[in-house]
Amino acid sequence: MINFNLSEEQELLKKTAKDFAKNELLEGAVNRDENKIWPKEQISKMANLGFLGMMVNPKWDGGGMDTISYSIAMEEIAAVDASAAVVMSVNNSLVCYLIEHFGSDFQKEKYLKKLASGSNIGAFSLSEPQSGSDASNMITTAIKDGNHYILNGTKNWVTNGINSDLVLVFAITEKGIGHRGISCFIVEKGLSGFECGKAENKLGIRASDTCELYFDNVKISEENRIGEEGEGFKIALSTLDGGRIGIASQALGIASASLYHSIQYSKEREQFGKPIANNQSIQFKLADMAMELEAARLLTWKAAWMKDQHKNFSAIASMAKVYASEVAMRASTQCVQIHGGYGYIAETGVERLMRDAKITQIYEGTSEIQRVVIARSLL
Ligand SMILES: Cc1cc2nc3c(=O)[nH]c(=O)nc-3n(C[C@H](O)[C@H](O)[C@H](O)COP(=O)(O)OP(=O)(O)OC[C@H]3O[C@@H](n4cnc5c(N)ncnc54)[C@H](O)[C@@H]3O)c2cc1C
Repeated sequence: MINFNLSEEQELLKKTAKDFAKNELLEGAVNRDENKIWPKEQISKMANLGFLGMMVNPKWDGGGMDTISYSIAMEEIAAVDASAAVVMSVNNSLVCYLIEHFGSDFQKEKYLKKLASGSNIGAFSLSEPQSGSDASNMITTAIKDGNHYILNGTKNWVTNGINSDLVLVFAITEKGIGHRGISCFIVEKGLSGFECGKAENKLGIRASDTCELYFDNVKISEENRIGEEGEGFKIALSTLDGGRIGIASQALGIASASLYHSIQYSKEREQFGKPIANNQSIQFKLADMAMELEAARLLTWKAAWMKDQHKNFSAIASMAKVYASEVAMRASTQCVQIHGGYGYIAETGVERLMRDAKITQIYEGTSEIQRVVIARSLL
């Protein structure tokens, strides 16, 4: 009934992602993080490996892989560079997924093919300054004008906002009816009245860009509306269910890197004439990290499997995200502790894990909101 073996293809994918991360992402990761440098060259190599549209049907130039394969690759990339992993995650599980599942053939032909092959990068823009967890409380509007819409408003916290070629924007097309008045649009960069703010100066994932977007009478063709008018919020929530598996996988990568570095360092570092790993209190930290990582991975893979089986995976994806992100936070904090003072400086590279872990508890729905989703499914 249950088989925990990875397929041959998945084993090969895991190795490819691991080698890529080691050979192409590791060097310069600390510098990119410190100086907020978007990994342009590395992202284009990830595109060549097919990492930016992994689950998209090959008909639309994607990899046609399952969600477990995506989770495996995300974990390996995030273990070395969580910033590169979030670019990958947004493009795969938010942007490509949304257009493939809710877009028209015209939109798939025109936009999805370039996104899935990685020649274009996408962003997903739901949040606004006054509406985060309560996302339907948005005020950005898209008012119909003939066969166009006129978009006005401010979005914030947009990952890939600066470096993307297009953005999926959620806006109100009918006021006064709450979330039933929200629609989704593909908005290309370069349209008149569309501006990006400066890159935010963040605690972690500093090499990924996050910015505000400003829309001042931006004219969008009706053929760029995804789904029917009023379906936008439902589309956003359904897409975020899958996105949470991506973020859980990013958290797994941070947790597994924390465990790896903790094992290496505790075997090397000697105090009181013996490796610190000889102390039971250090061993127990390692044991807890390994145990929690294993549990988080099983939960994440189960969520991925349920998604692939077309079962209702909303609550399990929330469980995976909240648990894996909390495991990543605990493991990275213990990793810094095991490195002592050396863990506290940038050059060692492990304080970055702790800073990067924090965001996995916040974006694509905070841990509190995930618990709301889980509790709702129970009650
Ligand atoms: C680096 C970064 C990248 C991001 N990328 C994107 C992106 O690409 N696209 C996008 O649309 N958004 C993005 N976001 C936004 C992110 O999804 C929101 O920050 C998140 O949903 C929380 O919203 P908020 O920040 O407004 O916090 P709030 O909603 O104001 O929450 C503040 C606190 O209150 C808690 N809280 C709120 N409501 C409840 C409740 N009902 N019960 C219990 N506790 C509650 C929250 O859990 C949190 O602890 C990003 C954010 C960051 C920081």
